[in-house]
Amino acid sequence: MINYPSSKLPDIGTSIFTVMSALANKHGAINLSQGFPDFNCLRPLIDLVDSYMRQGFNQYAPMAGVPKLRENISRKTERMYGYRPDADTEVTVTAGATEALYAAITATVKTGDEVVLLEPCYDSYAPVIRLCGGSPIYVPLTLPDFRIDWDQLKRCVSSRTRLLIINTPHNPTGAIITKQDMDTLANLLEGTDILVISDEVYEHMVFDGQQHYSALQHPHLRKRSIVISSFGKTYHTTGWKVGYAVAPAPLTAELRKMHQFITFCTPTPLQMAIADFMEEEAHYLQLPDFYQARRDFFNERMQDSRFEIIPSAGTYFQLARYTRISAEPDLEFAKRLTKETGVAAIPVSAFYHEKTDHKYLRFCFAKNEETLRVAAERLARL
Ligand code: PMP
Ligand code: GLN
Repeated sequence: MINYPSSKLPDIGTSIFTVMSALANKHGAINLSQGFPDFNCLRPLIDLVDSYMRQGFNQYAPMAGVPKLRENISRKTERMYGYRPDADTEVTVTAGATEALYAAITATVKTGDEVVLLEPCYDSYAPVIRLCGGSPIYVPLTLPDFRIDWDQLKRCVSSRTRLLIINTPHNPTGAIITKQDMDTLANLLEGTDILVISDEVYEHMVFDGQQHYSALQHPHLRKRSIVISSFGKTYHTTGWKVGYAVAPAPLTAELRKMHQFITFCTPTPLQMAIADFMEEEAHYLQLPDFYQARRDFFNERMQDSRFEIIPSAGTYFQLARYTRISAEPDLEFAKRLTKETGVAAIPVSAFYHEKTDHKYLRFCFAKNEETLRVAAERLARL
């Protein structure tokens, strides 16, 4: 008999995204749960990958990323945020934002460190912090608009705080962090050695004429920040898992030490193709209009339902409150909706460490109009 080691993450099960997608498939429900588009990426991008594969770009890429891709990320950062990171020492291409987050957290968090997280919170942060021997300290965002309560956050910062993780635009709420918030954060951290991870994977999905404010835009914050993004979101290629991290050279050096032992490098033909594709700025500059149209299409049809909706400011997610329909816990309601109504969504309690239930579901609107129309029609029957 082998005694297998006890679990390092005993309380962690299968992610809610996997659970709800599997349930949607099982019941043939429309899947508005896990965040991914139901339409294809653009044909020229596929052609580029095909072409690079045929030309023989099928071996290891440089560990930090293909130089042209790092250069184009650096240029895009300057164009969008007025700051040009050094492509050689400050930009690292990773296997999606997920790997960038893992590398960033493992590079910075040591035993006994505290990391401040804002809840509801994406599921990739806390388990990695714990694997490093750190402790997540949770600060709830304030309802109904999911703002940062700065007084509460200040009370959670201590001499043990190593890191603070922010996410803007925010999954699952769609809230965005303003320039004023970033100024407040910069002032709060002034004179400390606290680092920031800014998860900005939805940077190109901000609506109603508002602008994404990146931590890279802030002259003080960028000196202490690792900023993470994902081409999966920007180019409708979540299955390719190509993302990146931008950070000051000393932090990048440490992050790359982790990256080289997690994946070493990211698929070469994908990097080559994205590097070329990035030169057409319209692809990401048009994204706000592209997704706002989908958000508005879905929300207009949801007017006929009893769900309560405050339009999301960014991301491709829309929260909906269901207290007028049911008093069930959100997980049960989401499961029943999948089975009986044929629409799958994510229960927002999954984003709280104590599974706090404010009776919200998260719907992904990165879908064709027909998908959204049929889903909203079904939801309006409740
Ligand atoms: N951060 C957030 C907030 C996300 O929503 C996601 C994925 N949906 C990720 C990170 C991971 O991105 P990737 O798929 O590029 O690993
Ligand atoms: N980030 C995606 C979401 O929030 C899911 C990614 C995943 O399934 N791990 O839906």
